[in-house]
Amino acid sequence: MALPEISYLSGWYEEEKNAQLTYRWMSRQAKLSVKGLSKEKKYVLSFLAGHSFADWTPELTLIISGKIISVEQIASPFASYAYFLPQEDNLEIEFNLSEIKHVAGDPRDLGLMIGALQVIDLSSLESPFPLTGWYLPEEKDVLLQMPRKRWIKNQASLALRGDRNEELLLELILGHPFPIDNSPNIKIFVNNKELAEKRITSERQKWLLKLPSSEEFFIQLTSDHAFPVDISGDTRSLGLFIHEIKVHSPQKVEIVLGEGWYEAESGEFYPFHWMQQTSRLFLSSAELCQNKYLSFYAFSEYANLTQELSIFLGERKLDSFPLLHKWNFYSLDLQEAVQSKQKEVPHWLELKLALNKTFPSRYHPHDSRELGARFSWFSGHQDDELHQKTLAFHQNARLNYQEMMAGKTVLSSFPLNLGIDLYARCNIKPPCVYCLWTSMKKLEGKYVHVKVDEKTLLGYGPFFTSARTLVNCSFGEPLLHPRLKEILELCARYRKFIEISTNGQAFTSEIIDALVGKPIFLYISLDAATRETYAKIRNDNWDAIIPRLVELNKKRKKFHYLPKIYMVFMPMKVNRGDLEEYFKLCQRIEADAVVLRPLLYLHEPKIEAYRGGYHFVYKDELLPEEEIKEIITQARKLSKKYKIPLANQFEFGQRKEPQAEEFESGLIDFQRS
Ligand code: SF4
Repeated sequence: MALPEISYLSGWYEEEKNAQLTYRWMSRQAKLSVKGLSKEKKYVLSFLAGHSFADWTPELTLIISGKIISVEQIASPFASYAYFLPQEDNLEIEFNLSEIKHVAGDPRDLGLMIGALQVIDLSSLESPFPLTGWYLPEEKDVLLQMPRKRWIKNQASLALRGDRNEELLLELILGHPFPIDNSPNIKIFVNNKELAEKRITSERQKWLLKLPSSEEFFIQLTSDHAFPVDISGDTRSLGLFIHEIKVHSPQKVEIVLGEGWYEAESGEFYPFHWMQQTSRLFLSSAELCQNKYLSFYAFSEYANLTQELSIFLGERKLDSFPLLHKWNFYSLDLQEAVQSKQKEVPHWLELKLALNKTFPSRYHPHDSRELGARFSWFSGHQDDELHQKTLAFHQNARLNYQEMMAGKTVLSSFPLNLGIDLYARCNIKPPCVYCLWTSMKKLEGKYVHVKVDEKTLLGYGPFFTSARTLVNCSFGEPLLHPRLKEILELCARYRKFIEISTNGQAFTSEIIDALVGKPIFLYISLDAATRETYAKIRNDNWDAIIPRLVELNKKRKKFHYLPKIYMVFMPMKVNRGDLEEYFKLCQRIEADAVVLRPLLYLHEPKIEAYRGGYHFVYKDELLPEEEIKEIITQARKLSKKYKIPLANQFEFGQRKEPQAEEFESGLIDFQRS
């Protein structure tokens, strides 16, 4: 059906524009006609009104089809107004103002500036629509019909289309930045019935509400006070700041984070959320129908397994388990919870998560938030084998920790790191000047050509199941493996982190496609920032490498920046002057870190080679300790300057002693993975 037709009749001046809005000045009295309405539908007249005169609040009387609908005082800042229209085909609407203003040099009778005037068909709304009490968005790119990034008055409303057969979940992210004792108490009314209330104490608070089934919603937010100008520094009557309002349908496969979660952050393996000590999660009915298990990654700061996560459905504890140190994958069986709750799958399953203890504030002195643990990648799955293997992984990890703490030398548990050697061949010929390939292959003897692929990994049985991380540490180029894609898919399926070191010369578009989106730490060893230095260490392929790194970074952006790119630099005499350029290169490809890695110490090495016009003598390339210290200091400064984290492997393996206080309390130094 055609949209209602609005005609400006008498009392309106020509359209004008400012940075955010197209508007018309009205004089003392202005009229509109609205044609083409349907009597079967509910409509709302919505507009923004304001003026340019301080300390002036004229009274606007709105008359629709001869009846006074409202009388409001209109202050200067633009704010939204909305009125339900009578169910008629055509309407005449009259705006009457108690006073007008005159400005020198302008002959017009100036009343109000009216903008964004529209008639809304409530049954056609695709998203929540702001009705009364909304100031203009604080950011220019936010559309006027969106309830986001806007201050509201202490009373505001919005409209929302619903469905008689489903309970929607309304997510409000709101707050205020003022450090006050008397925080506003907000009540929410849905279709004129009070639904909930909450005190808003911080700048960003999340509030999730299950809405009763209905075809349409008229939602009112009422705060018990607005912020006075001496607190807000703003002449507007500010109630609360609405960051965002989202609506979730139970028919969509979705897990929604409720209260107790901070906003998403990045900089870790996956984007993550800090959880407070307790939190809520909502699983949609579509999610519950499609998947049997809830899975997530969690990062506990505690290394002694004393931070425990409990998951409740109502008052009933579904499960409880210690969180392992660093990022680990967890899987929770939901079938029993869903079936025992009620015969039919609920529209939303609401879970409460609780930690027995938080991350002590003395370890995060610059972050005053209540920090529990980090969580990431909540999703459902129906992979029974993955679930069973995940349970076995955790059981082993706990046993492994107990055995380590008991000082056992013969273990019945399996290690959490599994070293693998995927591929024996290398594509750099002659080998890199410092390479020990030939002697290493001699040591490997008859095993040098042993095939290692995804079947081999599975054949490792409990060693594979128990491994958190697979570390490919070998002499050879793993990206050349003919079954690389299958190996990476296997590791991703069982949520294994995999560390791979590469020389960067094997990338093709197919290999990049196999890598992106997988939980991989990719160590790329260039050791040089210029064509000339690279030629002295390896060969003349420099120009082909950088475009591939750019391609890899571009593609991984669509997959949560996976794999992680760690750019390795081994300080030597030959590349001593390349460090700053290396950071610049890493900044260009948005590397996750620069890895300073020591050149392997060898006793009286005999290795030397002529390459790229340079005579490389291994023993002369090993830099003295003082020079290494200088390089580390320089790298720390460059890391700050170019905002690329530094991973210093010269400190590799250095850990606090078990008797150290942090170790005793289970909190050891921060580790990125
Ligand atoms: S890439 Fe590695 S294995 Fe290949 S030649 Fe260089 S150092 Fe040796």
